[in-house]
Amino acid sequence: MTTTHDATALRARAGNSAGPQAPRPGRHNPMPQQPTIGVCALCKQTRPVFPPDPAWGRVPGPLCGPQWSEYAQARDQGTFAHFRDAFDNATDEQLQEFLQP
Ligand SMILES: [Zn+2]
Repeated sequence: MTTTHDATALRARAGNSAGPQAPRPGRHNPMPQQPTIGVCALCKQTRPVFPPDPAWGRVPGPLCGPQWSEYAQARDQGTFAHFRDAFDNATDEQLQEFLQP
C-alpha cells in the first residue's frame, strides 16, 4: 500500500482564504502558530523554532522564540535587532543611525 502526501498542498492552505470571519491582526502577525523543533540559526540550540517573517528582509532562520520576538519587536519599532541585522538589512542611512544614537 502506497500513500503519497503532498507537502505543498498543506502549505497552500495557509493564506488563501479571505473569509468574512477572518481575524485582521493588523500589520503584524503575532508569533506563527505551530513551532517546529529545530536548530535556531542564531543560538544554535535545539528548541521550538519559527520561520522568520519574509518582510523582515535578510534574516537567518529558523529562529527560536526569544530571538523571533527580538526581530518582531525591532521591526515594529522600525529598527533592527542587532548589528548583524542592521548590517544585512539597513540602508546606509539607517545603519549610520543605528550606530550613532
Ligand atoms: Zn535562538
